[in-house]
Parts: sequence; C-alpha cells; structure tokens
Amino acid sequence: MRVGCPKEIKNNEYRVGLTPSATREYVGHGHQVIIETGAGAGIDASDADYEAAGATIAADAAQVFKTVDMVVKVKEPQPAEWAQLREGQILYTYLHLAPDPKQTEGLIASGVTAVAYETVTDGRGGLPLLAPMSEVAGRLSIQAAAHALEKAHGGRGVLLGGVPGVACGKVVIIGGGVVGKEAAKMAIGLGADVTILDRSIARLRELDDLFAGRVQTRYSTSTAIEEEVFAADAVIGAVLIPGASAPKLVTRAMLPSMKKGAVLVDVAIDQGGCFETSRATTHAEPTFEIDGVVHYCVANMPGAVPITSAHALNNATLPFGLALADNGLKALSDDPHLLHGLNVHRGLITNRAVAQSLGREM
Ligand code: NAD
Repeated sequence: MRVGCPKEIKNNEYRVGLTPSATREYVGHGHQVIIETGAGAGIDASDADYEAAGATIAADAAQVFKTVDMVVKVKEPQPAEWAQLREGQILYTYLHLAPDPKQTEGLIASGVTAVAYETVTDGRGGLPLLAPMSEVAGRLSIQAAAHALEKAHGGRGVLLGGVPGVACGKVVIIGGGVVGKEAAKMAIGLGADVTILDRSIARLRELDDLFAGRVQTRYSTSTAIEEEVFAADAVIGAVLIPGASAPKLVTRAMLPSMKKGAVLVDVAIDQGGCFETSRATTHAEPTFEIDGVVHYCVANMPGAVPITSAHALNNATLPFGLALADNGLKALSDDPHLLHGLNVHRGLITNRAVAQSLGREM
C-alpha cells in the first residue's frame, strides 16, 4: 500500500502522524511511504531522516493526498485537507467528530474511510490511542502546577518538594484514571504530599496498592473534595465520564476558601472542565487568576512537548496502522477493536455515538 503523511496544518500543532521510526516499520512491511517535506520539523526529524527510513519526500501536501491509499495524521483534517480526500482512501487520525458537524459533512462528502484514533478500543475497556496523550498530560500537569506555584507566575510561592525542615506542598488529584495516576507519579517524584480522589473504589484500591502508602486515597464526595481542595497548594482536575461533559467539582463559591495563590490545573478542560471557573487557555497564555486562585486550563497540553507526544502517539498507532496497511479494509472486519475506530465510510457515519450526538442516521 502507499501510505502518506502530510505536515500538520492546524494552528500550533507540531506533532507528526508518522515518525521516522514508524516509517521504517511500514517500509519493512513492504509499503511505500510518502512524507510531505518538512512534516517532521516540529519533532526535529528532517527529510533526510525520513529518506534514511525508506520514505519518499513529496513537495507538498497535495502530492501526498493525490498519491496515497492511506493518509496518517495527528489532528482532524482541516477544510483544505478534507477537500482532497477521496473514496477508496483510508484516513487514520484523531477526528473528534461528535462536536464537529462541518468536518463530518466534509468526510461524508469525500467518500473516505475514516478511522478515528479516539474511538479505537482495547480488550480492557480502554482507549489505547488516547491513553498516551493522557499519560503526557498527566505528567505535564505537575510541571505546570509547580511552575504556576512560583511567585513570579502568580502562585503561592511554594516548592512542591519542600526542603529539609520545611513542609512540602500538598497536591490533590481529582480523578485517578490515566491522567491522575501519571500526575501522582510525578508529584511523588518531586516529594509532594499527594491525595487522589475517585468515584471508583476499585480504582482507589489499585492506586493504593500501586503507590504503597505514598499517596492518600479518598472516595470523591462533595465533603471530601471541599476538605482536600481547601488544604491544597495545587489541585489537578483529571476526571472523565466517557461521552459526557465533565462534572463541575470545584465551584466558584469554593475559591475564596482556598489558599491564596493555590493553583488549579484543569486537565479535563477538553471535556468542558471540572472546575466551574475554568475556560480553555493556550500555551501562549496558559494561566489566569480568579479570587486569588491561579487557573491553568490548556486544552492541548501534549502540544507543549511534541517530540515526546509524537513518539508516544506513534508507538500506540503503529500496530493498528500496520494492520490497515497490510490488510486494507479487511483489518477492520478482523479486529472489532479497530472496527470501533471506523467513524465514516463511503458517505455514511458508522459510529453510533457520533451519529447520535449529531442527530444523524448510521
Ligand atoms: P480516565 O477515564 O482514565 O480517568 C478518569 C477518572 O475519573 C476515572 O478513574 C473515573 O472513575 C474518575 N471520575 C469520574 N467522576 C469522578 C468524580 N466525580 N470524582 C472523582 N473522580 C471521578 O480518563 P483520563 O484518560 O485520565 O482523562 C481525564 C481527562 O483528561 C479527560 O477529560 C481527558 O479528555 C483529559 N485529557 C486532557 C488533555 C489536555 O491536553 N488537556 C490531554 C489528555 C487527556
């Protein structure tokens, strides 16, 4: 199969759908790989790196879209991109179609077979192509909190790890899933006092076993959230109710009772945020302050570290991508988890949740 990767054109997107090492794997499976010139610039991968991996370099995106049987990307196609997709071609990327009727119409009109990373599943009920970005965001959330806690950045002026003779900072993590677990690891690594709240007792048991006395776990009630948040130096919002907007667990009325200069990091902002006062921010201006509390609400946190993020994403997308390249559409009928990723096929929406949220027929 001819597999192609254009340079991402969405604002501030530096990741790339195929890294040189993923390229080499496709080439090793006998596929022809075509990469747009400069596609890897954001992760410090040159055209020469791709050529060394066996790829051919295309002068522009149009040449990639025109030539290939499968397009591998990171972000949902932009209007200029979906106009170049065609029937018989596979698109393999993040799509997030539910809130995006325009893109959905574009993909339907193109006739393309679109497989969305975010709806591919695994045997344990997880979302394996979303998890690596949650891992990145979870780990980054503590860096963001530590940075925002510095006085010059509007924070309390507390060092999370403390020093001998001075208490460490208190980190409260609401939601102990993928983001919450990775945030806890980093906070523990810095020497902070860490508490994780979750609604799932089974999950709290797992975390208690994993961190063996190094974290406190609490069942997430309104009372527990209030007690923990009022005592916190940094709060990480990491809840997810799949398919739903995030519940508002820290209200505006709670802010005056928080420590002055405490930090709220709302990782769940991409699902609307779990703090009432959150609004999405950007890497250029990541924080704002309300009632003396610093808010960090960057909606695409992994974009801050494109090298790590692109490699983590490629590690996860590679096995399914190779299956698609090796077997074409048969890969979908062979693997029900990959089939869950199929969102649009030859002009029809093929994912029930996407169809329902757009009020469309399957
Ligand atoms: P996950 O499903 O692994 O974990 C979510 C956890 O929240 C679960 O353990 C669940 O039991 C818990 N939860 C649900 N309701 C709760 C409540 N009321 N109180 C306490 N816990 C509750 O999800 P994840 O992969 O960790 O993702 C968490 C959020 O981070 C999602 O909204 C995801 O989209 C977001 N995210 C954001 C970025 C970003 O750049 N901002 C990047 C990656 C992920």
